[in-house]
Amino acid sequence: MHSTHAPGRAPGTFRSTARLARGIALSATFVAVAGPPRSASAQEASPRTGTSVPTRAETVPSRVVLFIADGTGVSQWTVALFEDSDSPLRRFPVGGLVDTRNVEDRITDSAASATAYATGVLTRNRYLGVDSEGARLATILERAAERGLATGLVATSTVTHATPAAFAAHITDRNAHAEIASQMAAAPIRVLLGGGRQWFDPVSRKDGADELGRLRRGKIWAGSAAELPAAAAAAAASGQGLAGLFAADAMSRAADRSPTLGEMTAAALQVLDADPEGFFLMVEASQVDWRSHDNEEWSVVADEMRDADGALQVLLDYVERHPGTLLVVTADHETGGAAVVESPHDGWALDWATGDHTADMVPLLAAGHGAAPFGGVRRIDAVGRLLGEALLPVAAAAD
Ligand SMILES: [Zn+2]
Repeated sequence: MHSTHAPGRAPGTFRSTARLARGIALSATFVAVAGPPRSASAQEASPRTGTSVPTRAETVPSRVVLFIADGTGVSQWTVALFEDSDSPLRRFPVGGLVDTRNVEDRITDSAASATAYATGVLTRNRYLGVDSEGARLATILERAAERGLATGLVATSTVTHATPAAFAAHITDRNAHAEIASQMAAAPIRVLLGGGRQWFDPVSRKDGADELGRLRRGKIWAGSAAELPAAAAAAAASGQGLAGLFAADAMSRAADRSPTLGEMTAAALQVLDADPEGFFLMVEASQVDWRSHDNEEWSVVADEMRDADGALQVLLDYVERHPGTLLVVTADHETGGAAVVESPHDGWALDWATGDHTADMVPLLAAGHGAAPFGGVRRIDAVGRLLGEALLPVAAAAD
């Protein structure tokens, strides 16, 4: 039912894993076709001065943060903006839109879209970290770890949920939470914060495997929201990782959430910032999607957007204090077909077209080092390739 579009695919779209691994040459080809020209060499143009400057690899650490607000389209962001006249949305100098269609040219789920952000390759719904044939793809998190950078995943769902899992697991079934937890416990993740303890805990796992023990190895454990600040400080000081799973399943709704997404994001940044080479961090505001599936009222969506905004404030403050950092904010898809309308009573209300995801383009915002290429209309896999290029420009050229 969604196959009647003429998508106008750019050349090099459905590349193989092996071709993807060759990295920069193909990315440069894509960018030359679909976006503004961008140097892939050891020199890149500074968006501020227009002059040629050394890449960050020679000057400052490589730091990339991807913020995914699950299910968040223009209307959900409008709720955030109308709720807060000082909304952090106003602080982003670069804006664009993402076409989120997947390899089947369908309305995407979070698995396929997060995989596209994580790998630069389009895939099928339900697939995590694998291409449309089910072949394993290297994710930006894994490539960062290989290069000695720190890595982090933060979510308000269970961390085995599709969006965070796509960065560290490889499987064709997004619902195989126990297997995903096993893969994530073994993955090179320095900081892992969110919900989903039951999938790691040997007491609640059907196979009794102690994935919690494996996950905690080399990391400081934050057993509660109250323990998080001290655990983060200890991890940063000792060079260890940080883990905290604050709920058996997903974390609470925003109104009752503790720690908040902003608190988890600040803790993650404190630990990752201690790595002199840099880091890749993905932060997900997971539950805007669920409130949108339920077609919730304005105030309930506003609670989730406020929690997301709190994390964005933390991230933007970090970017301002650390000029070598790139922050990209987007969504995996829109959910609910939300529209902002006048309330019959007073103020604003949300009107919903569906309980499912939509194919609406979603906002793409960027700030900090190398933000300019994220302006304009981009396909979701192109955003993934730009992120990889931004994090590992020199490493990619050497592949
Ligand atoms: Zn959804």
